[in-house]
Amino acid sequence: MTRNLFASPLYDGQLGDDELLEELAYSIRMLAQDDGAGQRWSKEKGYKGYTSYASLDDLPQRDPAFDDLKRLLLKHARAFAKELAWDVKPKLDSLWVNLMKPGAVHSAHIHPHSILSGTLYVEIPKDAGAIRFEDPRLPMMMAAPVRDEDAPEHLRPFIDIAPAAGTILLWESFLRHEVLSHNGEGERLSISFNFA
Ligand code: FE
Repeated sequence: MTRNLFASPLYDGQLGDDELLEELAYSIRMLAQDDGAGQRWSKEKGYKGYTSYASLDDLPQRDPAFDDLKRLLLKHARAFAKELAWDVKPKLDSLWVNLMKPGAVHSAHIHPHSILSGTLYVEIPKDAGAIRFEDPRLPMMMAAPVRDEDAPEHLRPFIDIAPAAGTILLWESFLRHEVLSHNGEGERLSISFNFA
C-alpha cells in the first residue's frame, strides 16, 4: 500500500451569479479607465494592462458589486477552511482587480501575510493565460527524477489550470503560482483576494 502524505488542496468553485459577473466586468473596466494611480503603477511595473493591487484598498466600500462579491467569497473561504480542517474563520484582508491585455504575464509569486488566497475569473477570452501552480517542495528536491508527462495530477510538479468565467479558485497562500502568457484576443478580467 502507498499513502499520499502532505496534500496541497485547491478549491475549485463557481460564483453562480452571471448578473454579478457582468456588473463586476463593468466595474473593472471603469476602474481601469479612472484610477490614475493604478494606471501609473501598472505602467511602471511593466504590467500589460491594469491592476488596482497597489492603488485601491476599499473596493467593497466603493462599489456594491464588490460588496456582494465579498459576501459570496466569504462563504467559499469558510467552506474551504472547513475542508482544510482549520479551526478559524477566514477574514477578507484585501481584494484587487486585474485587467490583462494580450501578451500580459504575471511571474511566479506567493502571497505573504495571508492564510488563503484566490481568484475569481470574470472574463476569460479563448487562449487567455492559464494559472500555473507549483509543488512547494520543489526547492528541496535535489535529485528527483523527472516525472512522466502523464503522471497523475497529485504527482505532477506543475499544474496548469485554464479557468472559465465564474470559476473561483482558492489555495493556501504559500503556494507559488504564476499567470502564463495571455495569447488570446481581448481583455482577461479577474479579481484576486487574500484572507487573513
Ligand atoms: Fe497571485
